[in-house]
Amino acid sequence: MIPHPFEYHAPTSLPDAIALMGRYGDEAKFLAGGHSLLPMMKLRFAQPGHLIDLGKIPDLKGISQVGNEIHIGAMTTENELVWSKLLAEKAPLLVEGARLISDPQVRYKGTVGGDISHGDPGNDHPALMLALDASFVLKGPKGERVVKADGFFLGLYSTLMEPGEILTAIRVPIPAPGTGWAYEKLKRKIGDFATAAAAVLLKMKGPVVESVSIALTNLGATPLKASAAEAFLRGKKLDEAALQEAARLAMSICDPAPDQRGDAQYKTAMAGEMTRRALLSAHSRAAN
Ligand SMILES: Cc1cc2nc3c(=O)[nH]c(=O)nc-3n(C[C@H](O)[C@H](O)[C@H](O)COP(=O)(O)OP(=O)(O)OC[C@H]3O[C@@H](n4cnc5c(N)ncnc54)[C@H](O)[C@@H]3O)c2cc1C
Repeated sequence: MIPHPFEYHAPTSLPDAIALMGRYGDEAKFLAGGHSLLPMMKLRFAQPGHLIDLGKIPDLKGISQVGNEIHIGAMTTENELVWSKLLAEKAPLLVEGARLISDPQVRYKGTVGGDISHGDPGNDHPALMLALDASFVLKGPKGERVVKADGFFLGLYSTLMEPGEILTAIRVPIPAPGTGWAYEKLKRKIGDFATAAAAVLLKMKGPVVESVSIALTNLGATPLKASAAEAFLRGKKLDEAALQEAARLAMSICDPAPDQRGDAQYKTAMAGEMTRRALLSAHSRAAN
């Protein structure tokens, strides 16, 4: 279907983008890679009269290390995450996650900022960012604020971003040396969203778990932090009994919507299995 007519704007600075949004308000939408927004416009679920393209603002691009954090510009594409040597070295969970998003064409245009801002629980970055304890930099007419990924996602397509705010960057604390990582994603075919997926960061101290972070994709209206499973695993050996209990605790917080990928029971069972596999894979990569 052809989208509703709109006017296209391509600001070259953040203040200009914020000012344009201030001028057009509810009639306008920011455009990043367009891979979520344009399909919604073609289906007429979204009918903005003005599109404010963020693609010509240099400040929104790039991946760099700042102290003990990685800073990622919101307009960085999925492919740029996949290709980043810095991320491969310092936060490989993001590389593994980005590589599992859709196909090369989508990854070429889709941005990490768009993936997060859209608030779609089927998107992968929200759970990856929860697992990494990332923070988001938001700029708007009232200035700048930095918010945690944990608490940012409020519901289906709903985040705590206020109208007119732009997600400008993502700040990812660099995991401690020796931390294992894994993103296990079950999907029906290349290009599909997750039926269920689990992101894990795992630090071992000898034979026992020192710290662990677990987050789930597409298993509720928001990405889910499996806090009870994390608390249970701390100080434990990662044996079969512990894996099973962690998977059970992860499943207990799932409330997925049934769709063509399966019913709630199947998706919840797959959440347990993805958690189990991600823990095992992260363990194999963690230093003891
Ligand atoms: C076939 C297909 C398969 C896909 N599979 C997956 C998948 O498996 N996993 C996955 O994670 N994603 C998947 N996607 C989604 C894809 O990764 C999108 O690109 C992504 O969700 C949105 O990013 P975008 O840059 O395209 O944003 P856009 O579509 O341009 O924007 C999405 C929304 O976010 C807002 N927005 C964008 N950037 C900002 C910003 N910086 N600040 C404030 N608001 C902003 C826009 O106004 C819009 O409302 C798939 C897409 C397609 C078409």
